[in-house]
Amino acid sequence: MPRPLHATIHLDAMQRNLVRARTFAPAARIWAVVKANAYGHGLERGMRGFVQADGLALIETENALRLRELGWVKPILLLEGIFDASDVPLLAEYNINSTVHCLEQIKMLEYTQLYRPIDVQLKMNTGMNRLGFRPDEFRTAYARLRAIRGIRHITLMTHFANADELEHPRLSIGEQVRRFRQGADGLPGERSLSNSGGVLHQAALFGDEAGELHNDWVRPGIMLYGGTPGARPAADFGLLPTMTLKSEIIGIQELEAGDSVGYGSRFQAPGPMTVGVVACGYADGYPRHAGHGTPVLVDGVRTSLVGRVSMDMMTVDLSPVPNARVGSKVTLWGDGLPIDEVAQAAGTIGYELMCALAPRVRVAEG
Ligand code: PLP
Repeated sequence: MPRPLHATIHLDAMQRNLVRARTFAPAARIWAVVKANAYGHGLERGMRGFVQADGLALIETENALRLRELGWVKPILLLEGIFDASDVPLLAEYNINSTVHCLEQIKMLEYTQLYRPIDVQLKMNTGMNRLGFRPDEFRTAYARLRAIRGIRHITLMTHFANADELEHPRLSIGEQVRRFRQGADGLPGERSLSNSGGVLHQAALFGDEAGELHNDWVRPGIMLYGGTPGARPAADFGLLPTMTLKSEIIGIQELEAGDSVGYGSRFQAPGPMTVGVVACGYADGYPRHAGHGTPVLVDGVRTSLVGRVSMDMMTVDLSPVPNARVGSKVTLWGDGLPIDEVAQAAGTIGYELMCALAPRVRVAEG
């Protein structure tokens, strides 16, 4: 028998989350973001789960080519663009839409003859200070790109740093939109601004201006996987979990008052208690920093971690589940236990938990 740890990817939930995303951004076309192995769900599953998307967005050219091999015929977007001029012919050959965020990338396009037209997304840095041209450089970058033979459509894009917070004191979404409008004012081309946060908080943030913000394309990632970028639970937005991680109790220890558990003896039993050992550890992608109190379900009953997470195992308090035994089912996240809640207890975000799912974890579809 294989080790009892396994993940289930819910393709139907992915499809339904995509439908849900459209209700927030009815006028926009959707780039479903499938970078990082479709947020840990598997690239091919991402493609199948989001088969109704208008395009798929990711990072690596080789994965864009893989999507073509797998039969994806709709648009593909490279979110960081190309890393070397040798990739330019591939954009043309495989009809891949590339982000252009710096002068070096413009030069790569200028130096390589395009024998077929390509579409690009010109990125503006509106305050996140990661990728993109500053608003005052944007027009020059646009003009230079426009002058390249073989460049067909230029979509204008930016990325929000704080779309999950209505009013971030350092950089609000409103300020980023203002900078974008100023930098892109009068330039032709479609617009693409919102990630999940922008999509979910559209109405609350901008009311009637929602259409303006959605623009032509949106780029949701985490919400399509049933998570949220902010504090409000995903279920509040009608989003469904797409990844469930389950295991079993593989050992039970009876503790007396004062006994400690695991590496570092971090947890000390306040009184007699029963502890269950679960087959899942940080080598499976479970966050090592998940501390005492991080929620898990044992046979559907909510309880919590005690002691440190080790490489292959973790320990949980079985006091609320007196009938638990070796073989009892444990839900680490998904299916009744929101991944965002586990992430929060572990001092991280749902994105990281999904992406960190280790290759050794068996994955099934359900
Ligand atoms: N657009 C860009 C440029 C991104 O880098 C990302 C992810 O970080 C997304 C969209 C999707 O973001 P989210 O998963 O928060 O929706």
